[in-house]
Amino acid sequence: MSFVDEKSRQAFARAQVVIPGGVNSPVRAFKSVGRDPVFIDRGQGAHIWDIDGNQYLDFVGSWGPLIVGHAHPDVVAAIKRVAERGTSYGAPTEVETVLAEEVLKAYPSMEMIRMVNSGTEATMSALRLARGVTGRAKIVKFEGCYHGHADQLLIKAGSGALTFGVPTSPGVPAQTAATTISAQFNDLEGLREIFKREGEEIACVILEPVAGNMGVVLPEGEFLQGVRRLTEEYGALLIFDEVMTGFRVSYGGAQAHYGIDPDLTCLGKVIGGGLPVGAYGGKRQYMAQISPSGPIYQAGTLSGNPLAMNAGLATLKLLQQPGTYQNLQAKTTRLAEGLKQLAQEAGLPIWTNAVGAMFSAFFTNIPVKDYASACTSDVERFAKFFRGMLERGIYLAPSQFEAVFLSMAHTDSDIDQTLEQARIVLKTLS
Ligand code: PMP
Repeated sequence: MSFVDEKSRQAFARAQVVIPGGVNSPVRAFKSVGRDPVFIDRGQGAHIWDIDGNQYLDFVGSWGPLIVGHAHPDVVAAIKRVAERGTSYGAPTEVETVLAEEVLKAYPSMEMIRMVNSGTEATMSALRLARGVTGRAKIVKFEGCYHGHADQLLIKAGSGALTFGVPTSPGVPAQTAATTISAQFNDLEGLREIFKREGEEIACVILEPVAGNMGVVLPEGEFLQGVRRLTEEYGALLIFDEVMTGFRVSYGGAQAHYGIDPDLTCLGKVIGGGLPVGAYGGKRQYMAQISPSGPIYQAGTLSGNPLAMNAGLATLKLLQQPGTYQNLQAKTTRLAEGLKQLAQEAGLPIWTNAVGAMFSAFFTNIPVKDYASACTSDVERFAKFFRGMLERGIYLAPSQFEAVFLSMAHTDSDIDQTLEQARIVLKTLS
């Protein structure tokens, strides 16, 4: 079969002259899958088209935000309606309160919320708040979890940083790195040891309650409950980074799914409906410490801008339709289980982790429950799988250590088509 990507190649060459690596976010360069990226022209529903005219079923959805699909008419209408009235005023608008109320209704652990412009800003601000209210400096994060690219969180991080093997980036001062303690996901004993040693200095524990940035890794047994108890015992704040899992694992995120009340929550992606947004929120006693009601400073020129607020609100309204999450979960399970079975039929080792509208299929024969086990995956095999699927019209995240994102726009026949192509590609991989 012939796959033509001449225009994408030219576009990439041109971009590389003026943009580092030709992209504005590293994973887009496809580095770990051994080919150049395709440049996207447009999207509609579950599909995207590249500039050479190739059509793909998209399982990235802009890395999570597009849970209702590309260019959903309701979201587009909301953006158009707002754009004609001005895109930003740097002054309060009512829609900010409406979206805040809508989010808080779904996340009872949060009593107040502050909008920012990205997930990175959300986690960075939540850390400042945790340090501000506890008067402590140290933070604990889990190896393989990614919380954006703030200095203090770019330590043993996942996602692009994991793929590139640069867990700690040059440019992060040693003094900053020294305040970040790294723990192992699903290892409660390890965390207990850390608290025994340095508990009085720890401001907070931040984690993805379902990790999505070392591929999808589920919290086992009582892990989340244990983290909750330990943080309470030592007076440290528990921060759930639900930038990826929020409105995706369930409408109420991982915290609703697993029944845990964190002190602070970070959101992003879905709540902006595909426009740049992040948010952090939590208990009133903490959030009231944020400027201007309190002394802990955080601000943003475009924060809460009406374009993003309305796109987010339109997206949440669509997600509120009855049956949405059962449907997303059913499609996710069918795709994950289907891939597992096809890989097994092809004689390939495979492990899948799935929850809500996200999953990962790892090319390994051991259970994936933390960073070390995720790293046993055969990344070369994944790269071949990725390239084969791409050339057959299935657009997956270009790394073994990312999630597959389902949307409301994917149909059962899209899943069938994906499995049919996977059957062909997997057979070539043994
Ligand atoms: N936290 C998590 C869990 C994420 O997955 C991401 C991005 N994928 C971020 C934070 C950072 O968000 P952003 O890219 O919007 O800065």
